[in-house]
Amino acid sequence: MTKYVFVTGGVCSGLGKGITASSIALLLKAKGYKVFMQKFDPYMNVDPGTMSPIQHGEVFVTADGCETDLDLGHYERFIDEELNYTSNITNGKIYSSVIEKERVGDYLGATIQIVPHISNEIKNKIYEAGSSSGADIVITEIGGTVGDIESAVMMESLRQFRLEAGINNSLFVHTTLVPFLYGSNELKTKPTQNSIIELRRLGIQPDIIVTRAPIELGIHVREKIALFGSIPKENIIEAKDEANIYQIPINFHKQHIEDIILKQFNLKITKSDLSNWEDLISRVNNLDKEIEIALVGKYTELEDAYLSVKEALKSAGYKYNTKINIKWVDSETLEDNKANLKEVFKKSSGIIIPGGFGSRGTQGMINACRYARVNKVPFLGICLGMQIAVIEFARNVCGINDASSREFDELAENPVIDLMADQKAIINKGGTLRLGNYRCSLKKGTLAYKDYKSDEILERHRHRYEFNNNYKEILEKNGLVISGINPDANLVEIIELENHPHFIACQFHPEFKSRPTRCHPLFDSFIKSSIENKK
Ligand code: GLN
Repeated sequence: MTKYVFVTGGVCSGLGKGITASSIALLLKAKGYKVFMQKFDPYMNVDPGTMSPIQHGEVFVTADGCETDLDLGHYERFIDEELNYTSNITNGKIYSSVIEKERVGDYLGATIQIVPHISNEIKNKIYEAGSSSGADIVITEIGGTVGDIESAVMMESLRQFRLEAGINNSLFVHTTLVPFLYGSNELKTKPTQNSIIELRRLGIQPDIIVTRAPIELGIHVREKIALFGSIPKENIIEAKDEANIYQIPINFHKQHIEDIILKQFNLKITKSDLSNWEDLISRVNNLDKEIEIALVGKYTELEDAYLSVKEALKSAGYKYNTKINIKWVDSETLEDNKANLKEVFKKSSGIIIPGGFGSRGTQGMINACRYARVNKVPFLGICLGMQIAVIEFARNVCGINDASSREFDELAENPVIDLMADQKAIINKGGTLRLGNYRCSLKKGTLAYKDYKSDEILERHRHRYEFNNNYKEILEKNGLVISGINPDANLVEIIELENHPHFIACQFHPEFKSRPTRCHPLFDSFIKSSIENKK
């Protein structure tokens, strides 16, 4: 039978619940268990796809095309397993599915209520993650903070889940904050005590408490939390602040969190194999070079809007013992004719333009792209970044001065990026982008082929607009190389330039498949060329 670990959060948000959940999963996997992860988000959106990245951060996309919370990116990077549509459940998904069933007549005769109909639906989603993945252990993180109105029914479902599954098949990890008060120079346990009381009020007794504190707890603080929490002192796991999040599983491992979990589950405590991860940490701690990469985007006021891109860049840096300093460039600041691009990029060894939606800031991206092309600065364009590169090339090399994307200009005369017929028919905005894995055939002799060393690849997508094949001939005639094509729909997936040390852009999102222990080929070669460029 599958075992279930639930990770809740108390006191405030931003304590690193996602990293805690990922670390636990990684440590259980390192013991040889098959793990699967899931996140519950208590908002009413069906998925985060329609939210602003500036509010919510990046939308992570799974291989099967589910638009999910950015924590799923942490999960995949830590456990190196592909997650799927069962991995991100929102209140919006739960409620719409219950209402749909009510309309169909599945509950004929009944009054539909939060308990049991919504709570049953939530429990079913937890069991489904276990049965469909075939995992030994499923780790489910509950978004938000205990006591939120939004997550009340989720907590109620967890209470019921424990009743059904029992203590040897379910385990509660509660993460809290232990603040340090300057002046009296002491750690304070009251917020933790209160949040445990709040959890108990909902009928849940934690089995493990993870404390986020700026310094070590010390024996007295530990004993106090254990007493108020009604748990053994060993079940308090300290989460010290770490500059490098990849260190956290190792810190937890030293406190035997996975052994505590396996013991409660009556599962064998085997020897851990963390060699891969330890090797990563040692590389992260021994970076002896550094380069600056300019990231030109429209959501740069929130780094989390580009979380996977940031991690993919850093991961490629680890391979070359190089620290990547990202220069966050708000593309809108490059729109003005007076913008001094030379000054902005003077220390940048490479330029990256990641994904985005809408026309705001795109002229600045086009200017940055032109700068990279003309000055032979290594360039990587992702999704919107590829569309920008095509527009820039059409305008400034092929002389199609008004080349644009249908997304920026509905009446464009020269839409080098356009809507395909199937997208034109779509009315609803939610969940209707081209999403998830699509095949891409690579052309021999190109940079893409050299990077992937393969005839065909699978990459994750999240976009509505496409390269317009009507302009293929003129663009190619002027030196644009089309190095990747989706063979099923004849869609352009990768473009690059001849006579440039490194200029490549893709319609998909390679950052979602990059792992800290195994960086993505496109990021690998981009960083390699950027390091050479610095020399
Ligand atoms: N806005 C563009 C589109 O929908 C690009 C999307 C993206 O960058 N993810 O096609």
